[in-house]
Amino acid sequence: MSAPSAPTSSTPVPAAASATPGHRRILVTSALPYANGQIHIGHMVEYIQTDIWVRSLRMHGHEVYYVGADDTHGTPIMLRAEQEGITPKQLIEHVGKEHKRDFDSFGISFDNYYSTDAEENRVLCESIYESLKAAGLIDARDIEQAYDPVKEMFLPDRFIKGECPKCGAKDQYGDNCEVCGSTYQPLDLTNPYSVVSGATPVRKTSTHYFFRLSDPRCEDFLRSWVNGLAQLEATNKMREWLGDKGDAKLADWDISRDSPYFGFEIPSAPGKYFYVWVDAPVGYYASFKNLADARGIDFEEWIQPGSKTEQYHFIGKDILYFHTLFWPAMLEFSGHRTPTNVFAHGFLTVDGAKMSKSRGTFITAKSVIDTGINPEWLRYYFAAKLNHTMEDIDLNLEDFQARVNSDLVGKYVNIASRAAGFLIKRFDGRVLDSAMNHPLLQLRAAVPQIAALYESREYGRALRTTMDLADAVNAFVDTAKPWDQAKDEANSAALHETCSVSLEAFRLMSLALKPVLPLLAESVEGFLGIAPLVWADVSTPLSSSQPINAYKHLMTRVDPKQIAALIAANLESVAPGQAVAAASAAVSKKAAKIQEPEAEGVISIDDFAKVDLRIAKIVNCTAVEGSDKLLQLTLDVGEEKTRNVFSGIKSAYQPQNLIGKFTVMVANLAPRKIKFGLSEGVVLAASADDEKAEPGLYILEPHSGAKPGMRVK
Ligand SMILES: [Zn+2]
Repeated sequence: MSAPSAPTSSTPVPAAASATPGHRRILVTSALPYANGQIHIGHMVEYIQTDIWVRSLRMHGHEVYYVGADDTHGTPIMLRAEQEGITPKQLIEHVGKEHKRDFDSFGISFDNYYSTDAEENRVLCESIYESLKAAGLIDARDIEQAYDPVKEMFLPDRFIKGECPKCGAKDQYGDNCEVCGSTYQPLDLTNPYSVVSGATPVRKTSTHYFFRLSDPRCEDFLRSWVNGLAQLEATNKMREWLGDKGDAKLADWDISRDSPYFGFEIPSAPGKYFYVWVDAPVGYYASFKNLADARGIDFEEWIQPGSKTEQYHFIGKDILYFHTLFWPAMLEFSGHRTPTNVFAHGFLTVDGAKMSKSRGTFITAKSVIDTGINPEWLRYYFAAKLNHTMEDIDLNLEDFQARVNSDLVGKYVNIASRAAGFLIKRFDGRVLDSAMNHPLLQLRAAVPQIAALYESREYGRALRTTMDLADAVNAFVDTAKPWDQAKDEANSAALHETCSVSLEAFRLMSLALKPVLPLLAESVEGFLGIAPLVWADVSTPLSSSQPINAYKHLMTRVDPKQIAALIAANLESVAPGQAVAAASAAVSKKAAKIQEPEAEGVISIDDFAKVDLRIAKIVNCTAVEGSDKLLQLTLDVGEEKTRNVFSGIKSAYQPQNLIGKFTVMVANLAPRKIKFGLSEGVVLAASADDEKAEPGLYILEPHSGAKPGMRVK
């Protein structure tokens, strides 16, 4: 839609269309990020999408709670903590703080951010499980699984590697082959090995607990529940999973894992733990319970069947299965209300391709802040691309700069900077009250429509509508020419009107943009001297009784250098000098020049740049049983996971003397499988010609101050 056309006579200010406050009670969640890695901008799309929705609902005066938590359980977290030589609880506490920091910097307005490893969650999981058991929906069955006899643990599919049984490709995961695409069972692999210990997995039987999703009660319930889903794509997906009636397509869900496992032990089942995907969605309720207890909210009223409150889950399309089958069925048959709706979004691509560490487009939230990129630029850009569907969205870095600079700075902020100066200098900072009924300000009528577009998650349309209004206002200013009006005292009244009208239009646009740009809106409220804007304020125009404050710069333009720095900050496996060149190339789309080697035996700078040397901290070091040469090193090279490296330095070092020391490693050497496990790189050591000479081996150590992950060039 476009801006309403200007009528011929002045009309009264219309009443707000959506000003009934507080008549809805709404609980909103975003998916829980896993506590073993950093938040990246792909994650951020979802939190921004949810946050805009939540902020817009709050601006109606509804009672809205937005809760989140870190998803903290499972095998990957247990193993990573072990590699780092810390407890899982220490690991998740550290990662939880980083996640919260990143959400805060992007203006994600959680009412509570919690952890699934919380007492409230344990109690809720146990109670839901007991109710499902009492309803006859839990089965115990013996199943055979891959087991690591050295590490003494059952292995998830992704922790087994081997040769593809179809095409023979090496180093393929236990579920599917990345070379030929075939899927198989982990133990179908040729020469399978455990990624954890390198041992050959064996088959072992164990009792597992299943949620009987195949029960006709579940099928009937889900068949009816699917009709309420808001998204056609989600409905179709679910119908595909459900199949035709009587098809019995739904499989029972394995909800238990064997010890050792980091999670909640299942009641009356020692050594059995709830699978992380059981306690993750329950974590939504645990976070809300924690908030409810702190704020005196009646938690039971929100979760009981027939509750008049609303409950929404924003998720990525990849976890639809868990949120539209398991989660509603778990709630329904444990005596709870079910979700009002589930909203799934697509994935983020950068410049048309999957985010990539080697291209520097796997962009962490922290790197955005560190390079001085305004997170509200990204909020605006993502919002402009988002709609109610599960379509993927693309961050095109050139388009990003162009759109932010043209829309936000050129069209919107500019309106205020042009009007404010004259108003302050000539009119005491006070608007002309009679100008508040100017025909142009009929654009007020669009604001409730924009609010409705936010609610239906049509953010792209909401912002296009807003920018159409900005075009209309700029056209008005260009026609009135306040800079000419200011030259002649006789035009003073006309100038006052022009500035008052454009400033009121600016206020209305700020209102329309507030869910997307909350920080900017706050600055605008300060500048205009008005209370925090809510939707009902559409019909409360600026008044001469409240002078505006001096205009301060509201938003800067995106500098292409910042984008280059952002890409450089996220480039991996490239030397620093190369990183900047590659980043500039990525931005300007020009290929970097490659120098030829000059002589035999001489390598070019590009050849050297291929070797990724990093500072590594030795977080653990142990002797290798059965080897008189090797030590097993656990190295922190500033990545999400530590590296496992076997090094032939046993003759020169006692393992305990190396723990805590720093060294240099080659980080991009292809991993090698040896008898004792997988070696993921080498550490650099100087050796005498005769290693047996005393002493014969010296590992390299940087001067103090070097940090894990720093590149060596
Ligand atoms: Zn294959």
